[in-house]
This record gives sequence, structure tokens and C-alpha cells, in this order.
Amino acid sequence: MTAGTGIVITIDGPAGTGKSTAARRLAERLGFSFLDTGAMYRAIAWGCLSRGIDLTHHALVTGFAQQAQLALDEGMISLDGHNVSEAIRMPQVTLAASQVAAIEGVREQMVALQRQAACGQNMVTEGRDQGTIVFPEAPCKFFLTASPLVRAKRREAQLRSAGQIVPLEEILQQQQIRDDRDENRPIAPLKPAPDATIVDTTAITFDEVITQLEEVVRSRVPLPAATC
Ligand code: C5P
Repeated sequence: MTAGTGIVITIDGPAGTGKSTAARRLAERLGFSFLDTGAMYRAIAWGCLSRGIDLTHHALVTGFAQQAQLALDEGMISLDGHNVSEAIRMPQVTLAASQVAAIEGVREQMVALQRQAACGQNMVTEGRDQGTIVFPEAPCKFFLTASPLVRAKRREAQLRSAGQIVPLEEILQQQQIRDDRDENRPIAPLKPAPDATIVDTTAITFDEVITQLEEVVRSRVPLPAATC
């Protein structure tokens, strides 16, 4: 989709498929900006948890999302002026994010912010609904998949490198809960857009994923000369 004069490339898929890394590195290669939309839902979840807002009370959570000041700058996210980039990666926030993400009012607010962020920008954006709902006219859409075990192992390694040791079994269980919530919610469920290119990342490296994505983009989208 062109938003203003910008080109938007969408990458969707479940957790652990390497979406964030792929989106960030693809954006670097193309000279585009990058939007991590999962971080936005995580920040709202973190804000609710830290204020004791009951996540099952949709009106309260929506009210919080509507007045929250979110600022995203590439890998950094702040909520009401506080850098929450690390705090939002905690396991309890991860699970809570999929709860707040199922609330209609929260999604409306986040979708509006995402479209605003894309205005006039060349951008790679990643999440669950970027190709289906937020930017349905994007000229290049990807849907990344991987086997549940491989995804959980990637998550385990990621947590370990952040100093958190979580048993693989627990990660698999939480992943299943999150997948179920994301795939089965009535609003913006996780699914590939009909025109998305599906990339199975189970048996290929991140470098191979990014190379594949870049080839598809360059074959389909007329990129501005300065970024080629
Ligand atoms: O991608 P990440 O794991 O950071 O996303 C956290 C949660 O936010 C997901 O489990 C999903 O419920 C929600 N999400 C969403 N729509 C997006 C991005 C994330 O519903 N575009």
C-alpha cells in the first residue's frame, strides 16, 4: 500500500518465526523504517499490569490505550515518557499482550497509530494483521511460519540470552495459548492475507529468510533509486 507517498511492506506470522529480525534487517537493507507492532500491544499490556488494571475489563483497558502516549523509535518504545523496551519482553507481559490485543477498542487505537506511523514513510511493518487489516493494499506481503518446536526453541534461546531461564515445556505451553488466542479471536485473527507470500523458516537461517524476502520485494516493488 502507498500511505502518502510511502511504500509499505508487511510481515505477519506467529511468534518465533523470526518476523522481528527479518523485518528489521529487511528495512535496513532497503533503507526503510521499521515498525514492531507487537511492541505496541506489549506496552499497553505492561501499562495495565503495572497499574493494576483488570485485563478482563475491556472498557478500562481501552480507556488506558486511548490515553497512553506511545513513542516508537526503531528498536525503542516508550510509554508515557518511560522507556519500556526491556520490561515488555517479560513472560507475563507476553501473555498479557495477547489478551489486550483481543480487545476491539485497543485494536482500533493501535491500528490508527500504525497507519499514522506509515504516513509518507517507506516502511517494513511486522505483526499479526498488517497485511490483512492494517495495510490491505500493501504491494508486498509476507507470512512467516515455522514448526511449533523450532519456534519455542528460538524463544528459549532469546530468553536465555536475556538472562531468563524458562523450561522449553513452559514456553511451548504459553506459545500454544498465545497462538490459540491470536488465531481464534473474532477481530483481526492471525492468518495470511490471500496475496501473501508464505515463507517457512523452520529449516533455513535468518540470512536466508532475509535474502528471500529482499528478492521478492525487489522483483515486485519499484524502489526509490537512493535505496537500491
Ligand atoms: O509479536 P509479539 O510477540 O511481540 O506480539 C505480542 C502479542 O501482540 C501477540 O501475541 C498478539 O496477540 C499481539 N499482536 C497483535 N497484532 C499485531 C501485533 C501483535 O494482535 N499486529
